[in-house]
Amino acid sequence: MDLKKFVTIVPDWPKPGIQFKDITTLMDNGDAYRYATDQIVEYARDKEVDLIVGPEARGFIIGCPVAYSLGVGFAPVRKEGKLPREVARVEYGLEYGKDVLTIHRDAIKPGQRVLITDDLLATGGTIEATIKLVEELGGVVAGIAFLIELSYLDGRSKLDGFDILTLMKY
Ligand code: AMP
Repeated sequence: MDLKKFVTIVPDWPKPGIQFKDITTLMDNGDAYRYATDQIVEYARDKEVDLIVGPEARGFIIGCPVAYSLGVGFAPVRKEGKLPREVARVEYGLEYGKDVLTIHRDAIKPGQRVLITDDLLATGGTIEATIKLVEELGGVVAGIAFLIELSYLDGRSKLDGFDILTLMKY
């Protein structure tokens, strides 16, 4: 299936010069959403994954159906102040300023094999921060799966040495 047919490119959103890749038109098509999910499930199948971890909010949309299909759990990575119990936290740089991501400290048991999911790899900053959280808790990153990779931003260079799946490249 040509998944790119289901991605809507919105020019100059949220600001001039950004070509926003809107995946809501992929998710609202049952066949396309299932096909994309199944591709990631197949990729994960031989990786002995114990847990899926994804950053809010689109990492949940990709990761939760994969977790369900594999019969493993899902642990959310959230912005600061959203998780109610003790968290691990990491600061990461944005284009302007910085942001913080958190995960519950007991979400990952040492040695668990984790598949990280998100909708889109741009600069790689979000996933680099997510990897730090997983590794701080003793998890092993077994793979990282995205629907979309923006090759021209070279986010892959931040993820050197990790096993990466991307279903569409721009
Ligand atoms: P990054 O940390 O730069 O890899 O990007 C973080 C997140 O920003 C991605 O997971 C996307 O959800 C979002 N994002 C960045 N660039 C785009 C884009 N051109 N279209 C849609 N979402 C984007």
